[in-house]
Amino acid sequence: MPERRDTRPVMVGTVPMGGRAPITVQSMTTTDTRDAAATLHQIVALEEAGCEIVRIGIPGPEALDGFAAVCSDSPLPIVADVHFDHKLAIAAASAGAAKLRINPGNIGALKRVDEVIDAAGQAEIPIRIGVNAGSLAAEYQDRDWPLADKLVASAVSFCHHFEDRGFSDIVVSAKASGVSTSVDAYRRLAEELPYPLHIGVTEAGTSLVGTVKSSVGLGILLAEGIGDTLRVSLTADPVDEVLVGWEILAALNIRRRGPELISCPTCARCEVDLIPIAQEVQRRLVGHRTELKVAVMGCVVNGPGEAREADVGVAAGKGVGVVFARGRPLRRVPEEQIIDALIDEIDALESSQA
Ligand code: SF4
Repeated sequence: MPERRDTRPVMVGTVPMGGRAPITVQSMTTTDTRDAAATLHQIVALEEAGCEIVRIGIPGPEALDGFAAVCSDSPLPIVADVHFDHKLAIAAASAGAAKLRINPGNIGALKRVDEVIDAAGQAEIPIRIGVNAGSLAAEYQDRDWPLADKLVASAVSFCHHFEDRGFSDIVVSAKASGVSTSVDAYRRLAEELPYPLHIGVTEAGTSLVGTVKSSVGLGILLAEGIGDTLRVSLTADPVDEVLVGWEILAALNIRRRGPELISCPTCARCEVDLIPIAQEVQRRLVGHRTELKVAVMGCVVNGPGEAREADVGVAAGKGVGVVFARGRPLRRVPEEQIIDALIDEIDALESSQA
């Protein structure tokens, strides 16, 4: 893969972004921000799944108290997501936000944007200029340009305005719901701007469609060395966004968090009910941090080979599974014990590495 594009780094709380820092995985809470306990509960679940930065919407002033409470107790840096009302962004900066995300195009007159810039400067936090196809600045909306051109022109012009105001702790995003438009826009931002890029395909859809669109769009960009932080946008539990984000990074050998599961698609030769077994093993691997290869295979055609190559594996037969660890067959277990046997071997391997 081409070398990762170098950028001007920023800090989001304790998490570095851009420069040589690892590409981070983000998500966004879906709880009512006024309910600090529910929001913190979701943040803990996101952290367990591998989320590194979490964004919270502040829909109105009534959410500010909850937002401040979450910032003070959150285990992860919090990004305040504010639209339309510059006063909310200013209040969020002093309430403990580690970063602001605004779309300057919908904040109003530039003097209001300037007040937000100054508040972020005082709080020493970065701002993401989050241009979005759904909320482009009015001056670009009616132009007869391709959408990617409008997104890039809007983002670049806001960056220059921020620079003129002496502010350069900037992160940029330019998301569209179309994969090719998003890819086009980010490629050009990467050429034109020195700032970290937050990449994503916005409003990508429900789990299946959104995962495919995000994997294709983010995969193309990451494979070209573009992107410093990512959010997979799904109409689903945000924990799933984090899991998909990590799988995208792992598939490109950029970053891995925990075990990699290899499982066969099953076919007429499979003589156990392998799909629920593989799904349950995948679910139980979520909290594990060790980089292991785990194979769940349906029969003796490819099963023993893959299971042997993996750190831990199972090759199923008629109602049974042969469990492998470190390339050696260990024991034969009945079908209903395959999951527990695999997880036991994974736990044993992890504790031997600890
Ligand atoms: Fe079919 Fe066996 Fe291959 Fe699985 S490992 S897809 S069951 S041949």
